[in-house]
Amino acid sequence: MVPGRLYTAKDMAKIGCNGCNGCSYCCQEMGESVILTPFDICELTWNLGKSFDELMEDKIELYMTDGMALPNLKMTGEKEAYGFREVCGFLNEEGRCSIHAFRPGLCRLFPLGRNYEIKQMETEDGGQEVKGFRYFIVEDSCPKLNGTKVKIEKWLEIPNLKKNEEFITKWHYFCKDFREEMQGLLDAGEDEKVKKINLAMLELFYRKPYEKERGFYEEFEERMGRFQG
Ligand code: SF4
Ligand code: SF4
Repeated sequence: MVPGRLYTAKDMAKIGCNGCNGCSYCCQEMGESVILTPFDICELTWNLGKSFDELMEDKIELYMTDGMALPNLKMTGEKEAYGFREVCGFLNEEGRCSIHAFRPGLCRLFPLGRNYEIKQMETEDGGQEVKGFRYFIVEDSCPKLNGTKVKIEKWLEIPNLKKNEEFITKWHYFCKDFREEMQGLLDAGEDEKVKKINLAMLELFYRKPYEKERGFYEEFEERMGRFQG
């Protein structure tokens, strides 16, 4: 997909939709597309008081693409109230998100997408690559866009957004490298090895609870160092 205009979190974008009033379109029939990061799972486990395994009972599921298994929100139901469409397990009978305050990052983002980019920065000793992303509006995604401008950081409502954006970037490139490596192993017929590495990755970043006292980001960095070390 070729994004149109790119935005930073400080920019205004035409993403107003009357507070989603009466709409839950992006909570329905999403298949496996609402992929969850370790931060999302951490937020869900802390706020719901449930473990990763308990969430796996009915709210999330694992899906493998390109050799990497990641959790996503599970569409459950075919609920009568929604015309027998499959809806997210966190959507309540009133058509509202029951976990709005700690909803996953992709739910906050919609109808925005992220365009990842690597910039070359001049430094005294040559140059340095800086990884990051900017936002774009995904065309024809939200049917209720009304042309009202909203500041993106306000739309996202993510505390400590800068830190979160750094995490999202790091996680994106980790997943990219991981998939490439797993794909190479799959091509070499090393299916069992791929399974083992995926289980270790899921255990370290998702299943093992994060300590609330330390906060997510510090512990994530430590785990990333351990995985790559
Ligand atoms: S499709 Fe748009 S208006 Fe509807 S719930 Fe999603 S973001 Fe809100
Ligand atoms: S978590 Fe909330 S916002 Fe996200 S898909 Fe489910 S009901 Fe919708």
